[in-house]
Amino acid sequence: MTTTYDAIIIGTGQAGPFLAGRLTTSGMRVAIIERKLFGGTCVNTGCIPTKTMVASAYAAHMTSRANDFGVNTSGVSVDMKRVKARKDEISGQSRTGLEGWLKRLENCTVYEGHARFESPRVLALGSERLTAERIFINVGGRAATPEMQGLEQIEYFNNSSIMNVNFLPEHLIVVGGSYIGLEFGQMFRRFGSEVTIIEMADALIQREDQDVSLAIKEILERENIHVRLNAKCIGFSKRGEKISTHVECTTGAPEVSGTHVLLAVGRRPNTDDLGLERAGVSVDKRGYIEVDDQLRTNVPGIWALGDCNGKGAFTHTSFNDAEIVAANLLDDDPRRVSDRISAYALYIDPPLGRAGMTEAEVRKTGRSALVGKRPMTRVGRAVEKGETQGFMKIVVDAKTREILGAAILGTGGDEVIHSILDVMYAKAPYTVIQRAMHIHPTVSELVPTMLGELQPLSTTADSKTTH
Ligand SMILES: Cc1cc2nc3c(=O)[nH]c(=O)nc-3n(C[C@H](O)[C@H](O)[C@H](O)COP(=O)(O)OP(=O)(O)OC[C@H]3O[C@@H](n4cnc5c(N)ncnc54)[C@H](O)[C@@H]3O)c2cc1C
Repeated sequence: MTTTYDAIIIGTGQAGPFLAGRLTTSGMRVAIIERKLFGGTCVNTGCIPTKTMVASAYAAHMTSRANDFGVNTSGVSVDMKRVKARKDEISGQSRTGLEGWLKRLENCTVYEGHARFESPRVLALGSERLTAERIFINVGGRAATPEMQGLEQIEYFNNSSIMNVNFLPEHLIVVGGSYIGLEFGQMFRRFGSEVTIIEMADALIQREDQDVSLAIKEILERENIHVRLNAKCIGFSKRGEKISTHVECTTGAPEVSGTHVLLAVGRRPNTDDLGLERAGVSVDKRGYIEVDDQLRTNVPGIWALGDCNGKGAFTHTSFNDAEIVAANLLDDDPRRVSDRISAYALYIDPPLGRAGMTEAEVRKTGRSALVGKRPMTRVGRAVEKGETQGFMKIVVDAKTREILGAAILGTGGDEVIHSILDVMYAKAPYTVIQRAMHIHPTVSELVPTMLGELQPLSTTADSKTTH
């Protein structure tokens, strides 16, 4: 039996539900299909659970520092079962809230199962067939497991399975020194594990500027997290109760021995089991669905949104994809992916808030630019809070005076970055922020001060580290 809809959405990640709301409100009959957990990655194994656990880790860390603030405590112990229970509750509320909302949504039919294309207009869902003139793919991604020597001999976690840990690993080896690996690494260190982060490249989160990457390494090492860079050839073997990780590093021992391994080495799109070839939808070499600036695939009537299109790997980029598609289809508003400015945060403590280009990227453009930098030790609010690690940095175009990029690594950095981001969207000159009166005492109040101290961007290296 084939059921006909006006639109079908595959996946209930960060784009699908919003789009279902917009399409049904416009009068369309919509089917939305979910094969596993409502809300997808962010709600169940991504942002919400990790940031909930980061909050527990922060509480443990601040308790261990209580004496610095004149507060007496008698030691810190972390109950991992309760940490997990709190995470499960917060993530679960979000999942069930979304599921309930979708199931009550008028003109929307929810299907639970795995969808596969049979043709450009027909999807198979078990024995059922669904058809529509418009199909929206929001299937997200999953943890990648690259081939590594000896991996089959050991048990390891990925970014999903580590969420179910309700005990304290004695020594966690985190393979991958990028965003996900660093968040888990610091979190488990603060819970009480010994942690070693192993990275193949010569820097942590290497897409960031060198000064940002180095400052983050220092922050982690100050908490006695071991960091091994240049680990060119990673392999594993079992040694009794322990797991030995072989690392070909330029310095240090050739092996790191730990009790548990977390693989945090990237993600891959969920496009290999979708029957895309039967619909004729093109994917790139890494399996990401190819889309144009309005998120249309090469097959008319099929769109791809969120992580599966490779245009972003964040909740906000997926949600923004849905806004772009809805604006084009329903509002006669030609919004485009290229309208958006890169923005994201790294939720170690202190967090890194990022907008626009890095200093290195600006340098590559060859344009004349100015840079401002201020360490958090010179931010009153950070001093008062006893959280002075990190720095803020901004790069502006010397001619147009528009802001090209910023990095705020420091307390509140994930929030402070937004005033800069909004001025970038307004395409206003940086002097708008410089002349604004900000509230005292905040981290944001030093952004205008930093903008009053801009220096020409050197053509050779990252601005002098002042953290
Ligand atoms: C550990 C971790 C931490 C993160 N932290 C952050 C953060 O702090 N901030 C941030 O912005 N981003 C973060 N992210 C990234 C963020 O979670 C994702 O970018 C976001 O969830 C993208 O969602 P999506 O809409 O593309 O798809 P997803 O949320 O992945 O949802 C896709 C859905 O489609 C379903 N599906 C797949 N295939 C089929 C099929 N064939 N049939 C039916 N259903 C199917 C899946 O079951 C899933 O529910 C994090 C990710 C991880 C892993």
